[in-house]
Amino acid sequence: MAARPDEDAEALAERIGLCARCEHAQVQRSAKGSEFWRCREADAHPGMLRYPPIPVRACPAFTPSGLPSRTQHGLVAGAEDE
Ligand code: SF4
Repeated sequence: MAARPDEDAEALAERIGLCARCEHAQVQRSAKGSEFWRCREADAHPGMLRYPPIPVRACPAFTPSGLPSRTQHGLVAGAEDE
């Protein structure tokens, strides 16, 4: 899960918007703790932004899923180890 240590699912959804529970979201986190929410659906649809402005409140491609997790969505390997 990409939630901050003191953040519950509701707070995460408020901060991130729809991407927090969309199967197309991929969370990348830098060594400094910055989060980047990438939309994998944008790879197939050039009109969509790969890194949409957060929070996303409306999106025609939103596809509900469980909360994104690093294992589920392939957090960039080594990003936290730098
Ligand atoms: S499809 Fe929409 S809601 Fe889903 S990750 Fe992309 S921008 Fe976010």
